[in-house]
Amino acid sequence: KKLGIALVGLGYYSSGQLAPALQKTNNCYLAGIVTGTPAKAVDWAKKYNIPEKNIYNYQNFDEIAKNPDIDIVYVVLPVFMHKEYTIRAAKAGKHVICEKPMALNARDCEEIIAACKKANRLLSIGYRLHFEPHTVELMRLGQKQVFGKVTSIDTGNGFTYNGDPNAWRLKKAMAGGGGLMDMGIYSIQGSRYTLGQEPIAVKATQEKTRPDFFKEVDETVYWELKFPGGQKVNGKSSYNHDWGYLKVQAEKGSFQLEPAYGYGGIDGLVNGKPMNYPQIVQQAAQMDDFATCVTRNVQSRVPGEEGLKDMRVVDAIYRSLDSGKWETIG
Ligand code: NAD
Repeated sequence: KKLGIALVGLGYYSSGQLAPALQKTNNCYLAGIVTGTPAKAVDWAKKYNIPEKNIYNYQNFDEIAKNPDIDIVYVVLPVFMHKEYTIRAAKAGKHVICEKPMALNARDCEEIIAACKKANRLLSIGYRLHFEPHTVELMRLGQKQVFGKVTSIDTGNGFTYNGDPNAWRLKKAMAGGGGLMDMGIYSIQGSRYTLGQEPIAVKATQEKTRPDFFKEVDETVYWELKFPGGQKVNGKSSYNHDWGYLKVQAEKGSFQLEPAYGYGGIDGLVNGKPMNYPQIVQQAAQMDDFATCVTRNVQSRVPGEEGLKDMRVVDAIYRSLDSGKWETIG
């Protein structure tokens, strides 16, 4: 049986990526939607053949508990709403995928994980790259030390934000932060999955060229991570630069991804030679995998703990920006 997924929040990512990807999945399908905009409900119902009884709004959302068509709730809302809706979904008896960044801070991530555990529901974070072939190969090269120990990593992710100045992404209370929360989370993940280790400390600096636009949130952030193995790891994030690379130097070779983090195609080089893996619909692979996890009742390879580990690093980066010093992660 294909499992039913309900998307909560029908913005840019749901409409542009997740709903189309759900037309290509084998183990799950788009069964329901949760939206505060009645006009969207009408459009989506028609476009994706969603029955009236599987359409919810933010007021009657908890009634989803009684709906056997919905197995998985996918939270695709602004960051400040992730915690509330992930916990409500788990309490309604649904397994949950929550988008990145998992929550406003690590403490909220811990609350989410505890609530899902208590409800005995599986939780996964929307880390689609763990299902992407070039990325999976990079993880193998780094973690299995195929070219010896990794000695340094240089990674950056960002885009030039010129969107709506009133958008939730620019409000600290709604987004938790700026380029670091939205884009930097990938550079942090990238460093962690290259090494298969957890960083222990971080030192960060920032730069603002458009302070009037980025009034409440960070624009460009640079950081250095300290790992137990002593590797030199530099990362950066931005709402003002188009970055998207992950470069790794090991004792006996080098490998890199560029673009490293998007969903418009990933490319990689190993010792200067192209990787040549197929381009896939990352979100379809990600959701199919979670549906299989639910059917088999096993943890996803990207459980809530992955989101929590990244948020611990993010929290420490913000502490370091305030203190100007190295900050311990955890
Ligand atoms: P968006 O602003 O386009 O969509 C957010 C949706 O939430 C909108 O439909 C909006 O109407 C709805 N919403 C409900 N209550 C709201 C409120 N009180 N304030 C504002 N909006 C409210 O954002 P998006 O780009 O679709 O991002 C949604 C989530 O998906 C974010 O967590 C983002 O980080 C994540 N995302 C992930 C990826 C990825 O590659 N994994 C890509 C893009 C976005």
